[in-house]
Amino acid sequence: ASEGLKKQGTKGARFARVHVIGAGVMGGDIAAWCALRGMSVTLQDIDMERIKPALDRGKKLFKKRLKKKHEVDAAVMRLEADVAGKGVARADVIIEAVVEKLEVKQAIFSGLEGKLKPGAIMATNTSSIELERIAEALKDPARLIGLHFFNPVAQLPLVEVIRSTFNTDAEIGKGAAFALAIGKSPVVVKSAPGFLVNRVLMPYMLGAVQRVEAGESKELLDAAAVAFGMPIGPIELMDTVGLDVGRSVATELRHGVPEGSQFDRLVKDGKLGRKTGEGFYKWV
Ligand code: NAD
Repeated sequence: ASEGLKKQGTKGARFARVHVIGAGVMGGDIAAWCALRGMSVTLQDIDMERIKPALDRGKKLFKKRLKKKHEVDAAVMRLEADVAGKGVARADVIIEAVVEKLEVKQAIFSGLEGKLKPGAIMATNTSSIELERIAEALKDPARLIGLHFFNPVAQLPLVEVIRSTFNTDAEIGKGAAFALAIGKSPVVVKSAPGFLVNRVLMPYMLGAVQRVEAGESKELLDAAAVAFGMPIGPIELMDTVGLDVGRSVATELRHGVPEGSQFDRLVKDGKLGRKTGEGFYKWV
C-alpha cells in the first residue's frame, strides 16, 4: 500500500520549496532538516529574535552532516528567515509548527488557504489535536493533512502522516512522498487523539512522572528504561519534548496534570525542559 501511495504522490509532485511556520523546537529543526536535504526553506515566526536560534541550530546540523564548506554554505543559504511570510505563495509544502493551541492553528490555516499554490501540501505538525478540528475552520478541509515529526528531528526517521476523514489518497500520497523525499519514514495513521505514537507514549511518560512524584529517583527510572532497551529514559524524554508541550498532549488525551504536582509547578516556573535549561533535570 505504501508503494502505491508513494507512486500516486510522486506523480507530477516536486518539492523544491518548503515554508515552515513556527521556529521553535520542532519548526526550526524541521526547516533545517529540509534545507539539509536540498530544499529551499523559508522559516516564519512572530519576530526575528525567535528565528535566529533555529538558524544557528541549522548551521550546527549542516556542519555536522555535510563534509565540505561549500555544501555547508549552500545549505545555510537555503534556510531563510521570513517574518513576513513571503515564502507562502511560492511553497510546494507548508508545515505549521506553532504552539499547540487549536484557535492559533485554525487562524493560521484560514489565513493561508487563499494564498497557497494549487496543489501545495498544507500540513500541521500538531502532536495531539485531531485534524478534523483544525480543518473545520477551512473552506476546503480536505487540503489539510498532518505531518507529525518527532523530536529530535535530525535523529528520528519516523513521520506520522495523519489522515483526516476529509482527506483523499491524493493529499495523503503527496504527504508520504514528501516525507520520503526528505529521507524520512512515513507511516499513514488515522486522526485520533495522540495519533499513534503519542497515544502509546504519553501514558508511559506520565506513569514515570507519577513514580518520580511518589519519591522514586528519576535517574534510576531513566537508567532502568535504557537498560530495558529504550534509547533514552521517560523523564529525559519529557524534558526533551518540553513540559508545556507534554502537558498539552496529556490534557488532549484526557490524562491531565494535577494542580500543585511537581510537573505543574515546573511548568508554572517556566522550567520546561531542555529548551529552557531546566525541567526535571538541569541541562546547563
Ligand atoms: P515551541 O514552543 O518550541 O515553538 C512554537 C513557536 O511558534 C514559537 O517560536 C512561537 O513564537 C511560534 N508561534 C506562535 N504563534 C505563532 C504565529 N501566529 N505565527 C508564527 N509563529 C508563531 O513549540 P514546539 O515544541 O516546536 O511545538 C510546535 C508544534 O509541534 C506543536 O503543535 C507541538 O504539539 C508539535 N510537536 C512538538 C513536539 C516536541 O517534541 N516538542 C514533537 C512533535 C510535534
